Amino acid sequence: MLTLASLSLSGGQGKTTVAVLLSKYLARAGYTVLVVDADPQSNMTTFLQHEVAADQPTLLELYRKQVSLEDATYPTATKNLFLIPSDDGLDQVQEYLASSGVGALALGKRLEPAKGSFDVVVIDSPPQRSQICKSIIGAADQIVIPCEATVKGYGSLIRTVEAVRELTEDGASEAKVLGVIPFRDRWVGRSRTKESDMVIKEMAGEIGENVMLPSIRESEKYKQAISQGVLLEDLGYPDLAYPFESLIDRIREVLK
Ligand code: ATP
Ligand code: MG
Repeated sequence: MLTLASLSLSGGQGKTTVAVLLSKYLARAGYTVLVVDADPQSNMTTFLQHEVAADQPTLLELYRKQVSLEDATYPTATKNLFLIPSDDGLDQVQEYLASSGVGALALGKRLEPAKGSFDVVVIDSPPQRSQICKSIIGAADQIVIPCEATVKGYGSLIRTVEAVRELTEDGASEAKVLGVIPFRDRWVGRSRTKESDMVIKEMAGEIGENVMLPSIRESEKYKQAISQGVLLEDLGYPDLAYPFESLIDRIREVLK
């Protein structure tokens, strides 16, 4: 089993976009996928059309060891795709993790029973550097970092890589950076805008050309695919799926 987190420490960097579409493309490729919505904003839960009922367990209860992994896992409308949902109550877990002393290890431990039942676990992360983020980095084998092709996105990449490095140096994580996906890469006609071009080159200079993945272009089609619960092919834009195909190729290599 491979545990992969979509992580970037600023808001609006494409974490949920990557997590939703990646998990659907993985499920379509035949992998059994467990999505963990670790963001109290719970956008992932919404996009997978799951409604949390008042008495149903979510990631919060799993973190607190009140329920088993199985009890917090729900099927989705997509074949091979399962979800551990969240709602805004997940914020309460910050305090629990802070007081536990071994907060960075909590999520990895809770997800251990998924081994054997799932091929890939995809975690969607909240934007701030928080106890939840620490526990995600602790749980992840691999991390994919989406970051906007802007100066803010470059800053998010730097902060995210730094956060991962700190935890691996402390022995609290063994996560590797599987890839960096520039998000909302802007093109005019056949050429990339100057800002996107400059920022993507700087990202590659910082992290290494070989770590970079093809970018997600600025396009309403991604939003439409997610809100309608379909794939890019279904909207007539198979070319836009290229970043996900490349990412899945890397995941295949790791799973070998
Ligand atoms: P948060 O930090 O709030 O969780 P995030 O990192 O998960 O944000 P997303 O929610 O994936 O980021 O995307 C940010 C915004 O960009 C959303 O409003 C989304 O609809 C929009 N968006 C997604 N894909 C594209 C695209 N290709 N081009 C332009 N906008 C997009
Ligand atoms: Mg999000």
